[in-house]
Amino acid sequence: MLRLTDIKLPLDHDEQALELAILSKLKIEKSQLLSFNLFKRGYDARNNKNIQLIYTLDVEVGSQEELLTQFARDPHVRITPDMTYKFVAQAPANLKNRPVVIGLGPCGLFAALILAQMGFNPIILERGKAVRERTKDTFGFWRKQALNPESNVQFGEGGAGTFSDGKLYSQVKDRKHYGRKVLHEFVAAGAPEEIMYVSKPHIGTFKLVNMVEKMRATIIELGGEFRFSTRVEKLDLDTNGKAHKIKGLHLSGGDYLPCDHVILAIGHSARDTFTALHEQGVYIEAKPFSVGFRIEHEQSMIDRERFGENAGNAILGAADYKLVHHCKNGRTVYSFCMCPGGTVVAAASEPGRVVTNGMSQYSRHERNANSAIVVGITPEEDYPGDPLAGIELQRRLEELAFSVGGENYHAPAQLIGDFLAGKTSSEIGDVKPSYTPGITLTDLSKVVPDFVTQAIREAIPAFNRQIKGFAKTDGLLTGVETRTSSPICIKRDENYQSVNVQGLYPAGEGAGYAGGIWSAGIDGIRVAEALALSMVSDT
Ligand code: FAD
Repeated sequence: MLRLTDIKLPLDHDEQALELAILSKLKIEKSQLLSFNLFKRGYDARNNKNIQLIYTLDVEVGSQEELLTQFARDPHVRITPDMTYKFVAQAPANLKNRPVVIGLGPCGLFAALILAQMGFNPIILERGKAVRERTKDTFGFWRKQALNPESNVQFGEGGAGTFSDGKLYSQVKDRKHYGRKVLHEFVAAGAPEEIMYVSKPHIGTFKLVNMVEKMRATIIELGGEFRFSTRVEKLDLDTNGKAHKIKGLHLSGGDYLPCDHVILAIGHSARDTFTALHEQGVYIEAKPFSVGFRIEHEQSMIDRERFGENAGNAILGAADYKLVHHCKNGRTVYSFCMCPGGTVVAAASEPGRVVTNGMSQYSRHERNANSAIVVGITPEEDYPGDPLAGIELQRRLEELAFSVGGENYHAPAQLIGDFLAGKTSSEIGDVKPSYTPGITLTDLSKVVPDFVTQAIREAIPAFNRQIKGFAKTDGLLTGVETRTSSPICIKRDENYQSVNVQGLYPAGEGAGYAGGIWSAGIDGIRVAEALALSMVSDT
């Protein structure tokens, strides 16, 4: 097969156009083209009067070798790479101990699936509840302000991304094509087939709930075992000077689980577990993350600005955006986790704190677009000293937001125009807030450090130059956005094990090795492979 990249066609091209484009690109007759299929479809909307679809196609031809020679200098004609997933190991029959996966977010889910597929019968420990019960608790919080600290947007089966937009792309390097395996498994569990070929796939929240359940059933069929409402409280370590080796886990409820190979995929919100690990001497470093607000506009305005007269086109769907601004005060402000046609959600996992995030359904049909508008911060400049100081900063900002919001989980919010003018908001305009339990209009500069206010005040007008209407007076800012990524990194070595605890495999977003559902899944596969190889070599 040949892979042709960068085949550009107009948005409204007809069915025959793809075949004609292949024939024209390869300069061949129709009889030489045996078959073709779509590998990727993206679009270029920089000129919204002439939006182009950009295809990557896999093509079967009668004269492959000849064409490869003919197009040897053309980077857009290559052999189709083999992207099929190949297992690195098979569990030996005499395996003594079962591997343990802590945390059932996308990282833990994929680690468990791969281990199960290789025959390692993993045990999966998750502090939260199974996804159906968890959904009730999460919606309960949004509707009735009753936060369950063990079952919420962050904790429970499916992890942090379960109630999300389900965007499945990131900028991670994926030389081994693990990302394809993630997509394949998601489709097998019920995701729309199109995630395999659209350039920015998304799943939406309700589909994710069903998929997570199906994947659990598959893992159980393959010999895996799940324990919900089971929080790992402490590691049991064999210690020799500064080096440790894992020999078991202390669980909530007083249980103990002996084990020697453990994947730690606990996400970025397991602050109590981070503290326990740090106190036990697991090596942790502080890392940069970002803080700011969620911004909301009418989706129709974003669609119009991005797609012009093509707004509403079914192939394009609801428009997204990605914005970056480097500020005079040396800070960088950027948009993050943009959710077209979605809602702003209450994402707290600790009582007395308010955190925002965003989600949408597969249809992306809600009235508002939202994204985080955040400022990058670093341990060196903003939370020096203790490796866990970033967590304390997050907590302080979330507490402030809770207090300014009225101490009832309402989030503090402000109209964009008022924020730019430094004026407390008193009335909602055209953009209706989507955040439940509700918002309290205020002055958002009260809940973030001054440099954050300053940087975002400078960035919004700059973003308005790229998307006219971005600084629209009655657009809405809601705060506070603090959980953009993990504030720590649990350092691992070249074998994916903790640098000072043998048998412990820190993984996913919480450990600082992923950012988003797809990359967390990829990291889960990577770490499961390393663990499997280590277990096989131990037997
Ligand atoms: P997590 O998903 O956080 O999973 C960690 C799991 O570990 C949790 O289930 C937790 O309960 C469990 N756990 C924690 N501590 C313990 C313990 N001590 N014992 C046992 N279990 C424990 N990303 C995208 O790519 N696209 C999106 O559209 C998107 N939208 C998002 C929307 C929202 C509302 C949120 C909150 C996040 C969103 N994200 C999105 C981010 C994405 O969800 C995360 O990057 C991803 O889930 C990280 O995966 P993970 O497996 O590393 O950790």
